[in-house]
Amino acid sequence: MNAFTARDTIARSGFRDLKVVAKVRESAIITSFHIEPVNPEDWRDFEPGQFLVFKIPMPQRAGEKVYVLRNYSVSCSPAAKGRYRISVKREAAPAPGLPDGASSCFLHDRIDVGDILKAEGPRGDFVLDKASLRPVVLLSGGVGLTPMVSMLHALAAMPDRRAVFVHACENGDVHALRDEVAGLLAARPGLSAHYCYRSPSERDRADGHFHSEGMISKDVLQRLLPIDDYDFYLCGPPPFMQAIYAMLREFGVPKHRIAYEFFGPATVLEPDGARAPAAPARPTRIESAGEATTVEFRKSGLTAVWDGKAASLLDFAEDQGLLPEFSCRSGICGTCKSRLVSGEVAYFEEPLDELGAGEVLLCCSRPSGSVVLDI
Ligand SMILES: Cc1cc2nc3c(=O)[nH]c(=O)nc-3n(C[C@H](O)[C@H](O)[C@H](O)COP(=O)(O)OP(=O)(O)OC[C@H]3O[C@@H](n4cnc5c(N)ncnc54)[C@H](O)[C@@H]3O)c2cc1C
Repeated sequence: MNAFTARDTIARSGFRDLKVVAKVRESAIITSFHIEPVNPEDWRDFEPGQFLVFKIPMPQRAGEKVYVLRNYSVSCSPAAKGRYRISVKREAAPAPGLPDGASSCFLHDRIDVGDILKAEGPRGDFVLDKASLRPVVLLSGGVGLTPMVSMLHALAAMPDRRAVFVHACENGDVHALRDEVAGLLAARPGLSAHYCYRSPSERDRADGHFHSEGMISKDVLQRLLPIDDYDFYLCGPPPFMQAIYAMLREFGVPKHRIAYEFFGPATVLEPDGARAPAAPARPTRIESAGEATTVEFRKSGLTAVWDGKAASLLDFAEDQGLLPEFSCRSGICGTCKSRLVSGEVAYFEEPLDELGAGEVLLCCSRPSGSVVLDI
């Protein structure tokens, strides 16, 4: 989601074959894949911050899907024509007996140089506002640094725009792309970094590899950022995003100066109502809406008249005070998939993935007549 000028950077070009030309271990848990279109004509430029959508094959079992769709941000310089790099964190099972992350573990464990991946894009509007003259603060947690590194490449190529790269992670073992960032910072004056390790190792201490310890605090941010009018970019796990967003808002940073991207289902960042209900606060049921088109949210016990103002069923649900899960808001990730109990919808953006019978993607559809949704 980008607070800056809405530019349509979506390239609807379909899935292409991309060959893995290098696989590089960046940390104990993050590995990069350098990939090139098999057909050079399939190259598409990207904006720093954009991602590719991958079709990852799954072991086939009867009745199950044969692939999953997953997004990975491009982590290299946008000037690197002909080759993308993605940097993927291996998402191991959180507890014994649970499955490993389907796509990330497949990429880490099964994909090597010479293999072909299918990907679509680049996509996404979480992109560096290159036209702005304001200084930039890139704030990342964990693998959320991937779009920030690409943005830092773009910033380092600019003559004098100031930028601070702030990264929080567990410790030096999982800190990826550190040397590359150091090289970029050395490119010119006006670029700096701050690393916050949650639990630094003895070696991190001995090497002086980090600048602060624990969580990024208000004090740290205040020290790092003299009063100025910054463009902020945020990407990291939900608790990181929520904490940083709250601090920035407390500092008086206006919402439109904070652009952010979630790597999973999006979460409410602003408890006081960034996505809060417009109305009504309590569910209502309309007994008779006459000829009007209505949307019934069955599980929520709420029916509302569709007035055509909301861009999508997802926006409409949010306007009614509901908070369905979402992530990409552009028909890719499937996070907002819901069951259509009755009625029909029309898609203004074709879902990238096939939908099962009775399924609907809320983020890219509108009702064609009255509908009943199972949310
Ligand atoms: C715009 C965007 C950009 C992104 N960019 C990047 C990037 O640059 N780098 C990156 O690494 N990621 C990125 N991601 C995240 C990426 O798309 C995947 O979500 C991530 O790799 C995890 O997918 P997976 O298939 O490996 O895990 P999944 O199969 O989706 O599982 C996720 C986690 O849940 C656990 N799990 C699975 N089943 C269960 C269960 N039954 N009970 C409990 N736990 C379970 C898994 O072990 C795993 O830890 C991005 C996401 C978005 C939306």
